[in-house]
Amino acid sequence: MTILDGRRVAEKVVAAAAADIATLARAPGLATVLVGDDPASEIYVRNKRRRCVAAGIRDLHRRFGADVTQDELAAAIRALGDDPGVTGILLQLPLPPHLDADALVSLIPPDKDVDGLTETNAGRLALGRPGLSPCTPLGVLELLDAHGIALAGAEAVVVGRSNLVGKPMAQLLLRRHATVTVCHSRTRDLAAVCRRADVLIVAAGIPGLITAEAVKPGATVVDVGIHRTPDGLRGDVDFDAVRAVAGAITPVPGGVGPMTIAMLLANTVAAARRTAGR
Ligand code: NAD
Repeated sequence: MTILDGRRVAEKVVAAAAADIATLARAPGLATVLVGDDPASEIYVRNKRRRCVAAGIRDLHRRFGADVTQDELAAAIRALGDDPGVTGILLQLPLPPHLDADALVSLIPPDKDVDGLTETNAGRLALGRPGLSPCTPLGVLELLDAHGIALAGAEAVVVGRSNLVGKPMAQLLLRRHATVTVCHSRTRDLAAVCRRADVLIVAAGIPGLITAEAVKPGATVVDVGIHRTPDGLRGDVDFDAVRAVAGAITPVPGGVGPMTIAMLLANTVAAARRTAGR
């Protein structure tokens, strides 16, 4: 049984991004936009900024109160979009409920969209064209590749269909010639579908959803879920039971989480190159 070590692979991706940045005429500038005081978002953004700065990215963080209006935030995002010194924009979600996140994301120029959430980048991904894709599914792919997990022809099952994780994950696996099934909250007999998987990727946001009976012996299991529990961070997979069946599995923490931040750095470099190349 192999533990898919996200920390180790992430370090390599970060080192490659830092080396890339050192060759650029001007360091990429990433504007992380944080609205309100959601404690989880604050931690995520702080970690992202810290890793970016360590790799040589200029930190152009913007902070707004929970009472910011749609118009004020829209104007700020437009200004970042027009600013040539800003090469990447990350609007941390979720936003307070009075704000229309889709409308705000759509104001980010696609080539600065380091989270890959704009319609243009989702379309590029669906059509198999070059673009910026969401960091978490990109990180999952990088982690699988680093461990030599074969995807072409493999049965891949993705649990979850969010725009941030499940859907782009399915698209990326298709691009790599896997046979892809996407499960969601209305899927009948989830365990039976998951048991078909050579590669099972779980992003449902439900702690312990995947038990050993949902896993084919020898399968590769990637757990995207993150939950703070009294016993520490836990995922969507019952790790202790599933590791006895799986051929390879990601730990939580130390699996997909570090890969997500590493791919943000890679995307920020890619965005800077796209903006410079225009
Ligand atoms: P989401 O809530 O937007 O989507 C969850 C998806 O799971 C939905 O499509 C839903 O249909 C599906 N689902 C819900 N219940 C289900 C069930 N019983 N059976 C099958 N499918 C079910 O969440 P998200 O943004 O995609 O994130 C999923 C999880 O991944 C969360 O725990 C989140 O915290 C975590 N996450 C981790 C990282 C990371 O870097 N490791 C990044 C993003 C999200």
